[in-house]
Amino acid sequence: MRSRTANRSGIVIRRRVTPAGDIIVTLLTPQGKLKAVARGGVRGPLASRLNLFHHVGVQIYQGPHNDLASVQQAILEGALPKLAEPERYAFAHLMAEFADALFQEGEFSDQAFELFAGALRGLSHQPDPEWVALVLSHKLLALAGFVLNTGHCARCRAPHPAHPDPLGGQLLCGACSSLPAYQGEALEFLRSVVRQTVRASMEGPVPPEQRPALWKALERYVTVHIGNVRSWRQLLPMAAPAFASPGPVADAVVDTQAP
Ligand SMILES: [Zn+2]
Repeated sequence: MRSRTANRSGIVIRRRVTPAGDIIVTLLTPQGKLKAVARGGVRGPLASRLNLFHHVGVQIYQGPHNDLASVQQAILEGALPKLAEPERYAFAHLMAEFADALFQEGEFSDQAFELFAGALRGLSHQPDPEWVALVLSHKLLALAGFVLNTGHCARCRAPHPAHPDPLGGQLLCGACSSLPAYQGEALEFLRSVVRQTVRASMEGPVPPEQRPALWKALERYVTVHIGNVRSWRQLLPMAAPAFASPGPVADAVVDTQAP
């Protein structure tokens, strides 16, 4: 493999500082995920540019060996300062962890990039970031091929399941689940979110008191199908009804053309 320099543009979805002062970043770009190191970056101007959720243009150098590409330069192309607000940050962090877990390095994924960028914009601007996170989590999962089977009970295959699956986050029939059925809006959301546009889902938010059940199911589903996502720990207490923001979203706009 020959050495080369390349320019890429993407959003920082993961950032780690090593004891040596290097910054290791993972970017989600329209050409896929990219991992690179800014050597000694923590002491230079790159430190503030290579921040989580920043949209950056980077010049990277890939050495002749198969080691990590290094960041030579970085310019800030866009930032969403409101994502630093605690109630938005936790959701943005969860989306970034999802994107990191769901999409592979080198895998071309223009659509994933657009969806993720739209999710961050929505989380930054919308009055109801929790709802943005619920809708876009399901959309990201679906794009990566993880789709909840809402047609049949996950255990006995009976049609029209409406009860939560406390183990796998799927849907169960009344005979297979010991939990009460989802309420109407939450059930309708689970059945429609994948085929519906993001805009349509945003216009019909599930009432906050029904959301904890949706978060619990999502957490179980992701844990079983994808693996451990650390952000749940800071997020799940927020999903309690007392915290959920009841703000109106009828006039809200998500800047994404996601399917
Ligand atoms: Zn069943």
